[in-house]
Amino acid sequence: MTSSTMKNTCDILITNSKGVVIPEIGIIQTNILIENGKIKSLQRSIDNIQASQTISADDKYVLPGVIDPHVHYGVYRPIEEAAKTESTSASVGGVTTMMRILRMTGSYRDIEKQLVASRGNHYVDYSIHASILHPSQIQDIPYLAEKIGINSFKVYMNLGGELNRIYVDLEPGSDEPLDSEVNVDDELLTSIMMSATRNNSLTMVHAEDPLMCAEYMRAIKSKHRNLSSLKTWSRCRPALSESRSITKAASFARQFNSELYFVHIGSAQALETILQQRGRGAGKGSLYIETCPHYLTHSTDFNSILGKVVPPIRSKSDLYHLWSALRHGQIDTIGTDHVANRLSMKVGNGDIWSALAGFPGLATMIPVLLSNGVNKHRITLERVAEVTSYNTSRIFGLYPRKGTIQPGSDADIVIVDLALKKKVSSQLLKSYSDYTIYDGWELEGWPVLTMVRGIVVMENGEVEKSTLGHGKFIRRPTTCHK
Ligand SMILES: [Zn+2]
Repeated sequence: MTSSTMKNTCDILITNSKGVVIPEIGIIQTNILIENGKIKSLQRSIDNIQASQTISADDKYVLPGVIDPHVHYGVYRPIEEAAKTESTSASVGGVTTMMRILRMTGSYRDIEKQLVASRGNHYVDYSIHASILHPSQIQDIPYLAEKIGINSFKVYMNLGGELNRIYVDLEPGSDEPLDSEVNVDDELLTSIMMSATRNNSLTMVHAEDPLMCAEYMRAIKSKHRNLSSLKTWSRCRPALSESRSITKAASFARQFNSELYFVHIGSAQALETILQQRGRGAGKGSLYIETCPHYLTHSTDFNSILGKVVPPIRSKSDLYHLWSALRHGQIDTIGTDHVANRLSMKVGNGDIWSALAGFPGLATMIPVLLSNGVNKHRITLERVAEVTSYNTSRIFGLYPRKGTIQPGSDADIVIVDLALKKKVSSQLLKSYSDYTIYDGWELEGWPVLTMVRGIVVMENGEVEKSTLGHGKFIRRPTTCHK
């Protein structure tokens, strides 16, 4: 055999796309060769390529697999059950890596139980952030960073005073809801930041002031007992409280050279405060901003307690402000803050006070960004890949294994059809949740194929059941981030 007839072989060839979105490079015409679950090479021509399997992208766009950095599952059902349904929903939404925000009350030395129960139950890859709820857990940070591969720690500045209770993740094998009293004072906040920084890790901040929220809530509740609108909820937890906590956290970050990642930023005021703080410099570190799809689609005009979330959904003007920040590169990532709860739990007694905060959102992130973003010319497809994959992978230490389509990276890929219209229903999304805040919305732009490390886990909205257990725990190295 002469060299001119030598074939370039691979396991899978993805061809015939409208374009492959490669972060920092752009949308290019290329074929993707995959071998052993990794990208082998990108080739313009398919002459001389011999593939065991060929996937035609049918003139649709190919994006790097989506990473959702903010998912709650394992709180209302044990992780071994929740992982099956929520990773199914992830695959429907083109999400190839879901990052769980784990909340444990005891020592994280017991995390092995959670890891064992997670194993074999995911369709897509997953990774974990550890919430530090109590001072005794600070000593677990070096252990988690070095031994487990967890390099991000969440602090809940919103917990304290009267508002100090939070549901934590269930023990595997149990479905008895578990809550814990959490009081985050400046001492706990700064110890988490210092320890995370020493361990080359990121601090994720839920920025709200519980004392201010409690005060507003008390005043509003005494006057308007029966109000149940999202406007009321938004007034109870004012953006000013977010802004104050952000300013405080950012000043500590400058002091300790810490990197902070602000989760679920949904108000213009919170966003502007972070941008101002960025302008002041943050020591060595950076201040990252995550927003959530629901802040881009819903305002307080959505008159339903289903929209109760913390921080609250804000006004229409906040919503437009966020789109503009997303377009201009001020927002780093999109996380869904997905909560896998059910309608019966969600509504409580039917009023805004007793309803549960949080709702599902894992499977609708990409459809929302394509439908309301790309197809409405608010953001480009390249920007979608940045905020849902590339930036996320870099911030959380997954790059270049994930977050791009380049030789050597995991073959995590999503093919999207920008013209496909589907009417949203909870059945379509395949989560444990039996409702969605997008119920009845016709979204245009959906994932049609989700591949995780070379294995197709979802095609045309249907999940390949035989791939359950393919998803694996991704340990993250403790390196510096961007
Ligand atoms: Zn959350």
